[in-house]
Amino acid sequence: MIIGENIHKSFGDLEVLKGVDLHVKPQEVVVLVGVSGSGKSTLLRCFNFLELINEGKITIDGHTIDPKKENLAKVRAEVGMVFQHFNLFPHKTVLENVIEAPLIVKRQKRAEAEKKGRELLEKVGLADKADVYPSKLSGGQKQRVAIARSLAMEPKVMLFDEPTSALDPELVSEVLQVMKQLAEEGMTMVVVTHEMKFAKEVADRIIMIDQGKIIESADPKTFFENPKHERTRQFIQMVE
Ligand code: ADP
Ligand code: MG
Repeated sequence: MIIGENIHKSFGDLEVLKGVDLHVKPQEVVVLVGVSGSGKSTLLRCFNFLELINEGKITIDGHTIDPKKENLAKVRAEVGMVFQHFNLFPHKTVLENVIEAPLIVKRQKRAEAEKKGRELLEKVGLADKADVYPSKLSGGQKQRVAIARSLAMEPKVMLFDEPTSALDPELVSEVLQVMKQLAEEGMTMVVVTHEMKFAKEVADRIIMIDQGKIIESADPKTFFENPKHERTRQFIQMVE
């Protein structure tokens, strides 16, 4: 579903991604871990074309993306992204937030977009919040709206960048539960998270990125019980 080959990304003199190869199969859930500054967010942003790579190739659902020729808004619709901070429009209701992109980017009819939007809000457990403003929601509820908003574009794959890191501890599980449900429904997902319980339960594969390179890629059991790389062992000790 996503193939990244030899991805290099620099900011000025700083080389952040140093030849990353990552293949994500349809319906696969990949959890991406690594210490702060290792390049996790940059990699997700490259897959979503919020950052353009300096070298390498990105293929989404069999289609290699040339940013110069492509409508990047359309590509971004196919690769949904959920961030640590939800960035909801404060002056729009929850439902309006969810249907904004389908109306504008996909040119859906309002009635159709609203119907779909309400279904998505139901799916994330917020059917009763459709008409309130984001300021009335908890952080966990806002993040679930952000997930619904992303799903409204019917993405082929979803990227999550530390979606629960900004939440109070008691609000983390409601968001992880929605993500787990999505995974069970067969969504292809790449998730950056420090929630190791989630990684063990939901990931098909855990990937460790260190200083801009993938150093470990294994199923959760192997990753935690028999990691190959010394840096992975150190990381596991740190998070467990
Ligand atoms: P992680 O998500 O793993 O913590 P990031 O991908 O955010 O790491 O960052 C990797 C490195 O790239 C860091 O050193 C960070 O300061 C740098 N970096 C990220 N984005 C930018 C940017 N837009 N401009 C300059 N440096 C950046
Ligand atoms: Mg990050």
